[in-house]
Amino acid sequence: MSDLESISSAYQTLFSMIEAVEPRVAAATRQELTDQRNSLKLIASENYASLPVLATMGTWMSDKYAEGTVGHRFYAGCQNVDTVESVAAEHARELFGAEYAYVQPHSGIDANLTAYWAILAHKIESPALAEFGVKGVADLSEADWENLRRRFGEQRLLGMSLDAGGHLTHGFRPNVSGKMFHQRSYGTNPETQLLDYDALAAQAREFKPLVIVAGYSAYPRRVNFAKMREIADEVGAVLMVDMAHFAGLVAGKVFTGDEDPVPHADVVTTTTHKSLRGPRGGMILATGEYAPSVDRGCPLVLGGPLANVMAAKAVALAEARTSAFQTYAQNVADNAKALAEGLLNRDATLVTGGTDNHLVLLDVRNFGLTGRQAESALLDAGIVTNRNAVPNDPNGAWYTTGVRLGTPALTSRGFTTSDMDAVADMIVSVLKATTPATTAAGKPGKAKYDLTDDARDASQAEAQRLLDLHPLYPGLEL
Ligand SMILES: *Cc1c(COP(=O)(O)O)cnc(C)c1O
Repeated sequence: MSDLESISSAYQTLFSMIEAVEPRVAAATRQELTDQRNSLKLIASENYASLPVLATMGTWMSDKYAEGTVGHRFYAGCQNVDTVESVAAEHARELFGAEYAYVQPHSGIDANLTAYWAILAHKIESPALAEFGVKGVADLSEADWENLRRRFGEQRLLGMSLDAGGHLTHGFRPNVSGKMFHQRSYGTNPETQLLDYDALAAQAREFKPLVIVAGYSAYPRRVNFAKMREIADEVGAVLMVDMAHFAGLVAGKVFTGDEDPVPHADVVTTTTHKSLRGPRGGMILATGEYAPSVDRGCPLVLGGPLANVMAAKAVALAEARTSAFQTYAQNVADNAKALAEGLLNRDATLVTGGTDNHLVLLDVRNFGLTGRQAESALLDAGIVTNRNAVPNDPNGAWYTTGVRLGTPALTSRGFTTSDMDAVADMIVSVLKATTPATTAAGKPGKAKYDLTDDARDASQAEAQRLLDLHPLYPGLEL
């Protein structure tokens, strides 16, 4: 039996066991594989983890409680969890050149929340404990504790605005980050749509934040973290970089020097499942100065870590240290550039006029469509994207005016730059064949649309051709 045949039969055996307990879950999970295989996935935040990463998640490591840190657990018998956590942290430190790595956060949001509280612990709590002459918060008098709680509530955060490409955890009011901090946001230059470092510096001088957050979910350009560091230093702020989207490009050495956040930031947070291509999870890198505070993630914010996911992070980080991963990361960036050029050659409008990372933000206004209409028409035509606000979006955050396109997932399947030109052609053909439809009341709608059958069928056929050229998990039969 070949390796692939034995993997297939192992999965078949496992699935028949799941089927016997809850057939609907087995069926939905099988169907998800079929759907993932048959969709042209341009969602910038998604990827396909390797079979070793996926397999590592599905084990009994999941059954162990291990609150605490390596060697200092609140439960007995954690030696194997200690091993996987240490290996994951070691890979993370060496891969990113970080002084310290914390691999317990369950997601990107958990990583950010842990980082914010670690920064507050280091910058606000520790000096207050010294001032009040006690060792820990448990020793504070009621009056001093209330005083400290008030100080936590007075702190300021400056993050990128949502419609310029920031994330909801960077101070958006409906998120806890916007409630725990006094928050202001920086945007992009109205003409160039690029980050305006001078405007940001002026805002920082005026607002004097405790924390400046750099990083994004929908900004199609690289960031100069050396400049961000200068701005933070000038106003005495902590520089936190959330590289959730582009960690794979940092790991793969596509972003180096001023574009590598790790040497410049105090604290770097990330997800592990986006361009980094690992299991769904979060991670924090920090300088030695911040390490002791971040290390208290449990009990600061977190409970028991997911040992099976930490194990899968270790496997994914080991993969990310190979030269094959560097090639992958470069291909992600090259494919994004090819996609942008293909769209521009066909007269599409792109936010900032292009890309130099893994994503493209297409402004669909010249097709006469909202982001919502474009997203739905593309989905009908076999192209999976997500609608996204553009700077100063006239349609707001729900209907939007943009569609975000990313290349990490298709690049994992082996798509090349010429394939990306074909994808650009499909996208423009579908959007040209889409018209807004009026609502029942005869008003121009923001959600309804008509797409011609011919354009839909042609795009679906082309999508299938490209997907067949680059199969997902080839040889795995389930
Ligand atoms: C995706 C993302 C997150 C959140 O990650 P989750 O794992 O979904 O919690 C945080 N920050 C940024 C910039 C992101 O893009």
